[in-house]
Amino acid sequence: MTTFAVGAATDVGKVRSHNEDNLLVADTVFVVADGMGGHNGGEIASQIAVERLANAGAVGSIDDLVRRVQEANTDIVDRAREQPEFRGMGTTIVMLADIEQAAPNRLGVANVGDSRLYRVTATGLHQHTEDHSLVEALVRDGHLTRAEAAVHPQRNIVTRALGIDDKVLVDAWELIPVVGDRYVLCSDGLFGEIDDDEIHEVLQATSSPQDAADELVRRAREAGGRDNITVVVVDVVEADPDEEHPDDRVVGIHKALSGKVLGDTGPATPEPRRGEMPGGFVPPAMTWRVGLFTAVVLAVVIGMLVAVSAIGRSGYTVAEGDNGDRKSVV
Ligand code: MN
Repeated sequence: MTTFAVGAATDVGKVRSHNEDNLLVADTVFVVADGMGGHNGGEIASQIAVERLANAGAVGSIDDLVRRVQEANTDIVDRAREQPEFRGMGTTIVMLADIEQAAPNRLGVANVGDSRLYRVTATGLHQHTEDHSLVEALVRDGHLTRAEAAVHPQRNIVTRALGIDDKVLVDAWELIPVVGDRYVLCSDGLFGEIDDDEIHEVLQATSSPQDAADELVRRAREAGGRDNITVVVVDVVEADPDEEHPDDRVVGIHKALSGKVLGDTGPATPEPRRGEMPGGFVPPAMTWRVGLFTAVVLAVVIGMLVAVSAIGRSGYTVAEGDNGDRKSVV
């Protein structure tokens, strides 16, 4: 049994009229969801996801965790089919949960989209999740630097979300809970405004998780507040007696691939090497979707190169339009 101390805060920010983020803080289940879509669809999608994950009780296994995220996906897809004005709504999800039946005890993580899970270390933040976003794909392929991605006008385009298709790829894995560890779940409204060093500084300087969540949201507002901001800070207070654990805490990876039978974890996925992101990119089989995605990415890259050279020649800079920073999905 693992026990936690938790703080949470969410804020509409200074620009948006609605808060499309939702969060869940239950005894042993923590979620941040960042919705997207017109006609309040974003709020509804993130709310449906959080409700589904709240109502299911304790998590029994990593497969159970993935199944719940898939069920949340189905709920959103069904709702969008019933009400056409919600077509295209979706949400990111990042989830941390105690896997109560695991012995020794484990934490489960699930991620879809560009919300993040961090863990505070002595020297900085360890980002456990990989962003499923266009800019992350461009960084991975060497077309953008991290610094360019952080300010890129299309940084809100995600490549995965709940609610878009009948099947969703869920990154999921297990972590060893270690007393004293501090985890942070957040929407992009936090790290879009303040950098990892500042987030780390606040988390180190603040002992109460609620004070830490409040202060992070306050700073993101102060820095611009251009998006909804949601932060959940989770401290591990009690855990099973210490066992040997790797620095990254990762002990098992479950990648639920599209169309895969749930519960069949297939051949063992090798442990990530140190310094490698646990949700490390695994090239999926080439399908028409992947082909289409690749074509879209290429078109965007070429478009960017053309735009950048045009800007360079003209001396103009690109300003974000009113809706230019809205989250959307490829
Ligand atoms: Mn957002």
